[in-house]
Amino acid sequence: MTDILPIRTQRTTASRLSEVDMNNIEFGKVFSDHMLTVDYVDGEWQEPQILPYGDMSVSPATSALHYGQAIFEGMKAYRQADGGVALFRARDNWARLNASAERMCMPTIPEDLFMNGLRELVRLDSEWVPGQQGCALYIRPFMFATDGFIGVRPSTNYRFMIFTCPTNPYYTKPLRSRFEQKYVRSVEGGAGYAKNAGNYGAAMLPTKLAVDAGYHNLIWTDATEHEYVEESGTMNILFVINGRVITPALSTSILDGITRRSVLQLARDWGLPVEERKVSGREILAAIEAGELQEAFGVGTAATIAPIATIGYQGQDYDLPALSDEGFCRRVGAELEAIRTGRAADAHGWMERV
Ligand code: PMP
Repeated sequence: MTDILPIRTQRTTASRLSEVDMNNIEFGKVFSDHMLTVDYVDGEWQEPQILPYGDMSVSPATSALHYGQAIFEGMKAYRQADGGVALFRARDNWARLNASAERMCMPTIPEDLFMNGLRELVRLDSEWVPGQQGCALYIRPFMFATDGFIGVRPSTNYRFMIFTCPTNPYYTKPLRSRFEQKYVRSVEGGAGYAKNAGNYGAAMLPTKLAVDAGYHNLIWTDATEHEYVEESGTMNILFVINGRVITPALSTSILDGITRRSVLQLARDWGLPVEERKVSGREILAAIEAGELQEAFGVGTAATIAPIATIGYQGQDYDLPALSDEGFCRRVGAELEAIRTGRAADAHGWMERV
């Protein structure tokens, strides 16, 4: 493996920043001025470059477009109370990208290459980091196979890139989520724990069917019994039942979410009982009917904390109690936001200044 080469930077001569209304951001539509790009050729990562954000051209035979060797990450940088900018748990995203790379038979990325490129890119576009409450700079690292070759085999060449975009919270209203008991997102032994593009493409039809039926997203269940909860849309899912914080245990079919990890850590810090285990639809239904289900919510980078107001299960809708400010969901959401913006102590060393 080569030593990490310095980054060659070509700055834009026409910043688009002044065209952006930071008070009215649309998720995922407006991209910051620059992007990082690094090619993997002959078994080595080449010189990293930062270029003005823009289109690129690829061969129609590009292997990633046909066989799906394409992986990505989603993470955020936050405007700090003192005006600076800090990344949240960026090295966890680097490690997860490499876990995805290994699952998809792709090269891994050295930590220095990832972190130096990321820091340099975010520094250069630091004015794009919004300071409004709940807003952040969303960061999209990704890698794809670039061989122009249509034989089915791992590509020999790859490209790793990062671009960023200012974002507001993904969901603004409490969610209506229904149990999905026909389609599955992933199976034990599959690639559900990886962030490979195909997982997301395959989720679109069942998600659309749920949206057409009046829900925001769906609660994925296991591939065998279609009964045990896995995730909620592109988020991990947590329940509070009788004061206990309960979430499905990780497996090869569940993405090991970094927000999930953080929320569970804060729950443990606060001395709350945390259970990572199997959770069935029947258990959730029984808890709702007994008045013991206090909260259900999705957690993820884009959505942060997304409370669920209504759960659909086997054709029936069940309304959950209104959230209280003292409840775990709101408290943990506020604490995470405070840590991320430098307004609360960063006891676990999650934040890294750029
Ligand atoms: N599950 C899936 C399938 C996801 O795509 C995401 C978003 N990355 C999550 C869970 C939440 O993970 P994180 O908290 O790391 O964003």
